[in-house]
Amino acid sequence: MNNLSKRLSLIKENDLYRDCRYFCSSQAPKVNMEGKEVILLGSNNYLGLCDDARLKEAAIKAVNKYGVGAGGSRLTTGSYDLHRKLEEKIATFKGTENSLVFNTGYMANVGILSALCDRKWVIFCDKYNHASIIDGCLLSGAKLVRYKHCDMSDLERKIHIYKGKNNLIVTDGVFSMDGDVAPLKEIVKLAKRYEILTMVDDAHGVGVLGERGSGTAAYFGVSEHIDIQMGTLSKAIASVGGYIAGKKEVIDYFKNLSRSFIFSTGLPPASIAVSLKAIEIIEKDNKRRERLTVLSNWFKKELKLMGFNTTDTITPIIPVIIGDAKKANKLSENLLEEGIYIPAIRPPTVPKGTSRLRISLMATHTYEDLSYVLKVIKEQGRRLQIIEG
Ligand code: PMP
Repeated sequence: MNNLSKRLSLIKENDLYRDCRYFCSSQAPKVNMEGKEVILLGSNNYLGLCDDARLKEAAIKAVNKYGVGAGGSRLTTGSYDLHRKLEEKIATFKGTENSLVFNTGYMANVGILSALCDRKWVIFCDKYNHASIIDGCLLSGAKLVRYKHCDMSDLERKIHIYKGKNNLIVTDGVFSMDGDVAPLKEIVKLAKRYEILTMVDDAHGVGVLGERGSGTAAYFGVSEHIDIQMGTLSKAIASVGGYIAGKKEVIDYFKNLSRSFIFSTGLPPASIAVSLKAIEIIEKDNKRRERLTVLSNWFKKELKLMGFNTTDTITPIIPVIIGDAKKANKLSENLLEEGIYIPAIRPPTVPKGTSRLRISLMATHTYEDLSYVLKVIKEQGRRLQIIEG
């Protein structure tokens, strides 16, 4: 146990220590953080649906009809007609034959990759892919080949080295910490040329990009060329869970072979009912998506004009790159004192030397609150000499 204290001290010394912050209200543009009202920027509740009255009602109805727990794993006693309805809904939403719901996005990635690949496979993985993809690759035993972030020449060069094997290219649709989008058209072209399977994790694209909000592949018009479409129900969809959408046979395969699906209790009916209702709303309500885009573009432009280092994104994820972990922490703490909560993201979540504030907007933020945030962030950025002036 001595070793644990040593490791913890080292984490603290390097300003990389992390702990939970507790909210005492629903996830919304303003939250009660243990007695203090703060403006929240950093949530994955992109469309602001976490406290939507229609979703709350769907959850209550499901609790009244089905109770609170699933009572078993999905292949034994934990499947309800609601699970089937949601899987059919996701398939229609994503334009596939069927889908399978896992308990989290993390479990979906780990379950899919470890069931699909083994030591004979090579997986080409974008350097900035989410940790759950990396963990899935490692669990599968396949050779993990990481290519430079969104760099198609590097990917092609690496494909040449491992030609002739069972290969898979896996990428985030929208990168969670940078907010940029994978070049899916180019990835599909390479995959076709070299006969490689493709998998897209669209945790942050669903609800935000594409026609009817169905995600990054739809945005690029390449949905039918992606072999495995994976996503989460925990971000814009405002619930919990992960899924894979694809051909019937593909779904049957993972239902029978994904250990994280087979050996875990099914999601409670209330969460399933919330996902179902949220997808219904997302398909019809373009206004939320449009407002989110307008707010994000404006906010990003203002930050750039102030001189902050941010990337060009078309999504509501706006990284403000600081570099040094200590400084990123300090900026986050100073903002909190002024009633704004934006968590500092540090290694190992992001590469060393790229600590940042990961701002993400919700469609329900107001211009008034965001203008206040811009004013304070400018003052604090100057005070900490992150920007000039
Ligand atoms: N993939 C990506 C790209 C993510 O950002 C996340 C969560 N942050 C996950 C998968 C895991 O999803 P979940 O939170 O539903 O487990």
